[in-house]
Amino acid sequence: KRKTNVDANALVSSILNKNITALSRAITLIESKNIKHLKKANTIVNACLPHANKSIRIGITGVPGVGKSTFIETFGKHLTSKGKRVAVLAIDPSSSITKGSILGDKTRMEDLVKDKNAFIRPSASGDSLGGVARKTRETIILCEAAGFDIILIETVGVGQSETTVHSMVDFFLLLKLAGAGDELQGIKRGIIEMADIIAINKADGDNLKQAKLAKVEFNRALHLYPEKPSLWQPKVTICSAIKNEGIDPIWEFIIDYVKTTSKNGYFNIKRSEQNKFWLIQTIETQLKSDFFNTPKIKKELENQLQLIENNKTSPFSAADYLLGLKKR
Ligand code: GDP
Repeated sequence: KRKTNVDANALVSSILNKNITALSRAITLIESKNIKHLKKANTIVNACLPHANKSIRIGITGVPGVGKSTFIETFGKHLTSKGKRVAVLAIDPSSSITKGSILGDKTRMEDLVKDKNAFIRPSASGDSLGGVARKTRETIILCEAAGFDIILIETVGVGQSETTVHSMVDFFLLLKLAGAGDELQGIKRGIIEMADIIAINKADGDNLKQAKLAKVEFNRALHLYPEKPSLWQPKVTICSAIKNEGIDPIWEFIIDYVKTTSKNGYFNIKRSEQNKFWLIQTIETQLKSDFFNTPKIKKELENQLQLIENNKTSPFSAADYLLGLKKR
């Protein structure tokens, strides 16, 4: 046990010294399924916590092909050129080592990978979004302790993954493409509501004119939404990730957002609400998994299902029975 603590303490001081190898090792512990590793990971996360919380956390989403990797590469380089240290994480619940994950193919961000002020970590693999999300939350803490000023969290729009990312970032950026007049159709409405910026990417060459039109349309649509609790009016902007155009204005908007919401108190309120959300979420996940993994429950669940099938009991009495069984 003592050895574990020594290891953990050594890792923590290396992380605080901005040692990337130590950071990677600690994240690997967080992602491990080995209970010993997880205990060690908990120690590390707790020790890093007082040094966390100092970054700007930015969520980035958009459909596959919209240019997320290209954008993150260009935006990331832009930030490091301003002296920022940038960590790039991802949430992709569908990913696994074999299936390959977003960010898994690091060649997609060739320049950023080589940048000593950038750290890129592919999505943890996992069977549940909740599990992947928890690992990412803890990874954010470690990255902040390692002195990263900006945390970019990429997600593809699979299921609830956008909502999950939204619940762990300060600022949410939605990348869009200008389409043939159908910009406002086929978008999950909830995502527009979450966005603090809509950036219409690939605003270059023949696309430029359409992108400008889309900007007008989105702006008009956004005014129909109720005011956000942040009192921040979401922005619509156009950019070309490939040509590195329109990138700095996005960063300026983010700075403005942080200033505005720090001043009106929303920035911190949102973070405390997120902490509360994650506390409850973690307890719920843990209780659920404890419950369903109890051998007694596993067995009796089958029996009760059979009884339901045969009309011998209702799902509700069965639930009462099973929940009572756990307590005994
Ligand atoms: P992702 O799936 O959202 O990560 O998208 P990628 O970054 O992989 O980009 C998909 C394709 O769009 C690639 O072929 C990129 O080169 C291209 N692309 C990305 N950004 C731009 C842009 O600003 N302009 C143009 N014309 N192409 C882009």
